[in-house]
Amino acid sequence: MPVDSSQPYDDQNIFAKILRGEIMCNKVYEDEHVLAFHDIAPLAPVHVLVIPKGAYVSWDDFSRDASDAELTALSRAVGEVARLVGADAQGYRLLANTGKRSGQEVAHLHVHIFGGQPLGPMLAK
Ligand code: 5GP
Repeated sequence: MPVDSSQPYDDQNIFAKILRGEIMCNKVYEDEHVLAFHDIAPLAPVHVLVIPKGAYVSWDDFSRDASDAELTALSRAVGEVARLVGADAQGYRLLANTGKRSGQEVAHLHVHIFGGQPLGPMLAK
C-alpha cells in the first residue's frame, strides 16, 4: 500500500524499528540527526538510504516541520555518504519518493542514493 504523505507518523514502520535497534541494518553513517544504511534489496551496485532520526513521514512534513539543524544535517549527510561509498567520482542519483503517486513504500522519510553504474533515464517512459 503506497504511503499517503498526509498520514500521521506511525512508529511501527520498518525504519523506526531500525532506528530503535529492533531490526538490524548495514550501517554506513550516523550522526546526531541522521542514519544511513545499505538498502536490503539494492537496485544498483550502490544503493544506500539516508534517513532523519526524527519522526517524519516524507519530504513533505520534513521540509515543513524539521528544524534548521535537522534540515542541514540530512543535506550534508547525503553528500558525505555519497563520498564515503565512493559514488561521488562517477556521479550518483538521489531519490526521495513522497506520497501516493511516487510509490513510497516505507512511511519514514528516506533519500535513496544510487550509483556504481550508469543509471539510465530519470523516469521509465
Ligand atoms: P520506497 O519505495 O519507500 O522509496 O523505498 C523503500 C526502500 O526500503 C526499498 O528500496 C526497500 O528495499 C527498502 N527496505 C525495505 N525494508 C527494509 C529493511 O528492513 N532494511 C533495509 N535496509 N531496507 C529496507
